[in-house]
Order: sequence, then C-alpha cells, then structure tokens
Amino acid sequence: MSASCDLAEARRLDAADELAPLRERFVLDERDVVYLAGNSLGRLPRAAVTATERAVREGWGRRLIRGWNEGWIDAPRSLGEKIAGVVGARADEVLVAETTSIDLFKLAAAALAARPGRRRIVTDALNFPSDLYVLQGLVRLLGDRHELVSVPSRDGVTIAEVDLAAAVDATTALVVLSHVSFISAFLYDLARVTELVHHCGALVLWDLSHSAGAVPVELESSGADLAVGCTYKYLNGGPGAPAFLYVRRDLQRELEQPLFGWLGHAEPFAFEAAYRPAPDLKRFCVSTPPVLSLLAMEPGVDLVLEAGVDRLRTKSVEQSELLLTLADAWLAPVGVELASPRDPEQRGSHVALRHPEAWRINRALLEPTPGAPTVIADFRAPDAIRLGIAPLYTTFQEVWLAADRLRQVVASREYERFSAERPLVT
Ligand SMILES: *Cc1c(COP(=O)(O)O)cnc(C)c1O
Repeated sequence: MSASCDLAEARRLDAADELAPLRERFVLDERDVVYLAGNSLGRLPRAAVTATERAVREGWGRRLIRGWNEGWIDAPRSLGEKIAGVVGARADEVLVAETTSIDLFKLAAAALAARPGRRRIVTDALNFPSDLYVLQGLVRLLGDRHELVSVPSRDGVTIAEVDLAAAVDATTALVVLSHVSFISAFLYDLARVTELVHHCGALVLWDLSHSAGAVPVELESSGADLAVGCTYKYLNGGPGAPAFLYVRRDLQRELEQPLFGWLGHAEPFAFEAAYRPAPDLKRFCVSTPPVLSLLAMEPGVDLVLEAGVDRLRTKSVEQSELLLTLADAWLAPVGVELASPRDPEQRGSHVALRHPEAWRINRALLEPTPGAPTVIADFRAPDAIRLGIAPLYTTFQEVWLAADRLRQVVASREYERFSAERPLVT
C-alpha cells in the first residue's frame, strides 16, 4: 500500500471489500461520524433493536414467567454455543454468565484450588488492570499465601516470550494473560504460550476480551484450559452485556468455582438446602441470567459468525496496515509515535498511538472545528490514543479520515483549544 494513498483510493478499497455490505446491518444514524471505538463498545446491530423490542414487548410484556421455559433459562448455554464457534471451542465448553472480571475470579479461584501445592500466579504488565485487581483480591482472600508475578514489558508494547518462559516454573499454579493487550494490542501466540505453561504443569487462563470476534482463537486445538471474554467489544453485545467463560471439557468436573449459586446447582429447582455442583459446565453459573441483555447480544454474535473470523481478520490487518502506512507518512513527522507492534502477526485489531498531548488531541477529534469530521477513538492514560478497527463495519475511508484528521489536529495544534483536565470516565 503506497503512502500516497488518497481518499479516492480508500474509497476504491471499500468498493472492492466483500464484507462492506455488512456495515448496513448496523444502525448508522450519524453516517459522517468516524467510529473507531468498536474495540471498546461495538456498534448497535439493527437486528438487536428488533430482538430487544420483541424480548421486552412479547417476552417480558406478554409471556411473563412462562418465558423461562421458552428459551430464557437456556440462553446462557445456547449463546455460549454460538460464541464457541467464534473462539474455536466445542459447543459444550462456553457459557455466558456474569461479567468478565467476575468470571475471571471464578475461574482463577477454581484453578488455584486445583493446584494446591503451587503458590505462584503469573501475569504480565500489559494486562488489563481489572484482571490484575481480581488476582490481587484473590491472593488476599486466600490468606496471602500466593505470589503474584507480573512479567514486565521491555518496550511498553510487547512481552518477550523468553521473559514469560523465565517466570513460569514448577511452582506456578496459574498463568493469566490477555490474548490481545487492551493497551498496545500486543497479540500472544495462544497455542505456543499454552504449550509453554503446560510444560511446567500449570494452568492457563486467557482473557479474550480484545480478541473474540477480531482475531482467530483456537481454544480446542491449542488445548487451552480456561478463558473469559467480553461481549460488548467486537461481538457487539451492547453496553454492559454479560461475559462468556470457557472451561475445557475434561476440566469441567474437576474444577469447582467458589461462588455457589442456585443456577450452578445440579438441580436448581429441587431447592435442596445443600449445594451440589452440576456435573458439567453449568456449575460455573451463579445467578439468574440477564435475559434482556442476552437476547440483545445474540444478533451481534450472529453477525460475527456470518462474516467469519478469518475474513474479519484479513480485513482488519489490511485496514490496520493502511493506518500504519498513513501514520508513518503523516503522523510520525509531527511527533505521534506508534505504540503497537509493527508486525501484524503480533497485533490485534486496534492501533495505539502515543503523543504527550494525547488527551487534548482526542478531545479535538471528538469536537471538531466546522467542516472537519467527528472522529471517535479513545484515550488511555497517560498518553495513548487507541484506534479500534472493527471490520464488520469499519470502512477504509474511515481509517483514512481518522489519520488525516489526526494530522491536521496535531500539525495545527488545534488541540490547544481544550483544557488538560479530564473527566471521570476516559
Ligand atoms: C474490556 C475488558 C474487560 C471488561 O471487564 P468487565 O468486568 O466486563 O468490566 C476485562 N478484561 C479485559 C482484558 C478487557 O479488555
């Protein structure tokens, strides 16, 4: 791709894109807005509007309690089956329940209990802070008998596999990693790392929040033990949509999660006084499923399945490569640095850029001067802007416009219109 790529060329790439028609399956009320935050909150599928309305009016409004036996109670499993198709798992290995942080807690606790003689938990410095907090809390809860080791990043962008290998040893119970880092988009080789962890007899728990629906994930063929992931990012499940969890089939009976709730019971409607875990994946459930959120999520997952993760990945790499080409040509000269791996094999579906004025630059993208497009990306402290590529609906033209707008804002110092103060949610 040439650095002289002009807008017309970006439009030609869109015209040749076989996935382009899928964009029209999303609500696009503000067509001129350049939306590059699908890695944070996916767009609203049109079918989710009708599914939600039906769930509310017909389900909740008319069927009422009868709805439980008309699909509601099975929704965590049936949606799990669909998500299994996105992450390369078997149908009975994925369940939708609670949220990513809570599922991480449940699975990490179960894994530690299954490795009682081992005291070390390994994670890395690029992992999502909530994942780190969950592990810190778990160590405290278990009486501070575990050691939490965080593998540092040498460049703030990647984790060297040799550094990870050096941290995992015969005392390691569990390794918890994000497949794709939320900050730099660094992408692990899931199969190779799983093998490395298994070689030491430890268990591995993958957080797939930034890879499910964006990057091929092969849980079954890699032999991964455990995983969790978010559904409101590349799976377009909607704000606060429940998370999914994966437990390899042969571990399901062996592992016991610590939140005993009635829906994890072997027979929830026997109303027995003593807890007895279900013999299968169901034991990882806790509570009544959030039915409206589950039904709203389904169309987003269906769209990913329809497109196919491999085709989405191919387009994502093409679009990210265009962004990198433009960033090299236009942004590096004005002091914007790449903060993601350059090699697409090591990069997920967003691109992070770094600049000391990132916060104010992002404000200027959001609140443009007249005539300029609104660009929605996101800022991550202290100095990063993440541009998320969601190939189900992101266009090449949007990628071009975002790079062009960034160049204008930085070169003209237009961001100086804004104060450096930040609100609570960035
Ligand atoms: C988005 C994300 C989460 C979200 O956690 P919640 O508990 O759903 O708020 C967790 N982990 C990673 C790596 C994420 O990117």
